Amino acid sequence: MKRLSERQMALLQLLADGAFHSGEQIGERLGISRAAVSQQLKGLRQLGLEIFSVSGRGHALARPLELLDQSYLQQQAGTAPVHCVAVVDSTNDYMMGHLAEWRKGECLLAESQTAGRGRRGRQWVSPFAGQMILSLYWRLEQGLGAAMGLSLVVGVALAETLEAEGYGQIGLKWPNDLYAGGQKLAGILVEMSAIAGGSCHIVIGVGLNLAMTLQQGNTISQPWCALESIAPGRRVQRNRLIAIFIRNLRQALERFEQQGLAPFIERWDHFDIYRDQAVELLLGDERLRGIVRGIDGQGGLLLEGETGIRTYVGGEISLRPVDENINI
Ligand code: ATP
Repeated sequence: MKRLSERQMALLQLLADGAFHSGEQIGERLGISRAAVSQQLKGLRQLGLEIFSVSGRGHALARPLELLDQSYLQQQAGTAPVHCVAVVDSTNDYMMGHLAEWRKGECLLAESQTAGRGRRGRQWVSPFAGQMILSLYWRLEQGLGAAMGLSLVVGVALAETLEAEGYGQIGLKWPNDLYAGGQKLAGILVEMSAIAGGSCHIVIGVGLNLAMTLQQGNTISQPWCALESIAPGRRVQRNRLIAIFIRNLRQALERFEQQGLAPFIERWDHFDIYRDQAVELLLGDERLRGIVRGIDGQGGLLLEGETGIRTYVGGEISLRPVDENINI
């Protein structure tokens, strides 16, 4: 896990407006020589930041950035500690590796990840300052069994947050992905570990694209989008949005703990992009076709096939659309 040095942070804050700053001006502000400025810029480029250097004008970021503001987030979403770091391999890995340290609702946010993950170890691309990369720790006293359906609750909390903020075309794909206009906007990864005595640790990871260049996203193996591109001309207020989501997520988790999935089923249906549509389920090597008929009380997928409606549950199942009409 890495925090930026004070100098790197000061330089980033200076460049965050996206305007050009001369080497001389930067040197003066940071109290360092021109050669040291070049070194600091090199360090920022190594984090994956795109910085233009133009002779006669100076240095500018390819786009303005809103860096994570720990004191704002702590103040706005602070019923439990909120930590912000610059670079981490994966916020979920870090939280899972230090389970005994967290309080319920505690959050870890990163500007970027070097080994962000989706399900089954698939890569999650997380460029510097372009996302909400959040892991939140939760503890369920009722144990692993009571956690069924939890990733759906997280999806509903995120989709409702974005819809309430005025973003359109938000949809959910069972069990853990958020789309906008058919392109992937966010991923959710819930990981758990049982505790002796019956309760369990839960780490909820969410990666939400806020702004990402085509180059930064060029290794992503499916159509994707970022909030900035679905609402052109509107500036995403990164810290504000993160604070609202953390509050909404904690509230949703408390409700889920008290009432289970029941209060979320209709809300899931509202966002379900494949409801009443033909899909294929991938279960290892097996492929099953049917029509999506919603979710059951535990968050299992209801799929109507030749023999009627059956429920499918489990972290290893993937859902894919199929084009042709299915006769059942
Ligand atoms: P499923 O969850 O249905 O099995 P999935 O392909 O969406 O399918 P996940 O494990 O949820 O799998 O997410 C990982 C996938 O998300 C990657 O394989 C890649 O296709 C995509 N991806 C990676 N980074 C990003 C990103 N920043 N934005 C959008 N999509 C991404």
